[in-house]
Amino acid sequence: MTQATDKKTKSKAPTFTKLVSKEGGTEYPLKAIHICEETFAPLEVAYDYDVIRERVSRESIAKGPNSIWRYREFLPVESENPIDVGTGMTPLVKSHRLARRLGLKNLYIKNDAVNMPTLSFKDRVVSVALTRARELGFTTVSCASTGNLANSVAAIAAHAGLDCCVFIPSDLEAGKILGTLIYNPTLMAVKGNYDQVNRLCSEVGNTYKWGFVNINLRPYYSEGSKTLGFEVAEQLGWQLPDHIVAPLASGSLYTKIYKGFQEFIKVGLVDDKQVRFSGAQAEGCSPIATAFKEGRDFIDPVKPNTIAKSIAIGNPADGMYALDVAKKTNGNIESVTDAEIIEGMKLLAETEGIFTETAGGTTIAVLKKLVENKKIDPEEVTVAYITGNGLKTQEAVQGYIGEPLIIEPKLDSFERALERSRTLERLEWQQVLV
Ligand SMILES: *Cc1c(COP(=O)(O)O)cnc(C)c1O
Repeated sequence: MTQATDKKTKSKAPTFTKLVSKEGGTEYPLKAIHICEETFAPLEVAYDYDVIRERVSRESIAKGPNSIWRYREFLPVESENPIDVGTGMTPLVKSHRLARRLGLKNLYIKNDAVNMPTLSFKDRVVSVALTRARELGFTTVSCASTGNLANSVAAIAAHAGLDCCVFIPSDLEAGKILGTLIYNPTLMAVKGNYDQVNRLCSEVGNTYKWGFVNINLRPYYSEGSKTLGFEVAEQLGWQLPDHIVAPLASGSLYTKIYKGFQEFIKVGLVDDKQVRFSGAQAEGCSPIATAFKEGRDFIDPVKPNTIAKSIAIGNPADGMYALDVAKKTNGNIESVTDAEIIEGMKLLAETEGIFTETAGGTTIAVLKKLVENKKIDPEEVTVAYITGNGLKTQEAVQGYIGEPLIIEPKLDSFERALERSRTLERLEWQQVLV
């Protein structure tokens, strides 16, 4: 009894205070709701920054867990023990060879291709969403996914002992499907695109009282992406970069990196600075890039047709807010073709030893395009966000990379093959010169 009371008096009040409508500011309680009843705008978590400022310092954060939970005062959960499967604190790699190839002096790669446990940035948002789902009393969790989210919800639900039913478009890459099924959730492969899957999930949510991480739990879920901003600031020695390039699907990740930087400025963890935000889309699904180029502040939905399936959202929920961030930070939103995406994947692998999926290929291809179009200054401290792992989208590069040399287990067979491959290399080289 005394112990329990002790614990209670010692445990701190949460730093997050309410949900607020992004249009009009109507306030809502901290429940599983995501849309303002008056304006239909998304709801967002609000915090008491005076409390956060009192509680955190660079030192206290550095002493925290080696995961996203070192930033827990900035995340919308109450639990003493959030679900911690080692998500976050992925490497920020100073690029040398890719930087030289592109003509940049200060390029960094934030490598979420090796995030835990399912090798994409989605583990960040799901760790937060499922911790909150548990607090709100849900026993079944769900989502509409372009692939990576399904992997992550299935894995982390398995770890937390939650029931799991996830929805994906049926035409996803084999690695994304297997990478979900292995955790033994109920997997619904819907004959339709992501936007149709998402609509179906909203209907299911009307009847089934489940925690849909990117629907009724979306305000909490999306906050997890802020840690991509926090980590970069901490890893740069408590400084903000000059320019970031990130992929856009719904636009959530991109806008939340922005929110993360703003929060660090607000509580005095970093100096104020204008960071330029550039966004990357695949031409076959580029509603945000198109609106940006046409100078519009609204999105015309499209039907996706691209190999970059993980970012193929034709009707992006946070598209408008992403446009706003690009404009007010003097950034750009660009799109690239599927061929350029494959080149981007190969370029990152060959220069940095990082095998990313199609979304990362999109980011690198857009980075290259922005440098070529003089939209990134060579001196700028630029961070490219690599959000997913290439082993999950092997189909995309099949036929565009080399093949193994099949040999007999004999030295002369090896030597003949080596000679052949060197001749081929010379031929290729001559073709480049011609
Ligand atoms: C989901 C996803 C994104 C983008 O997410 P949004 O927050 O919806 O913009 C980017 N990269 C990868 C690999 C993803 O799975």
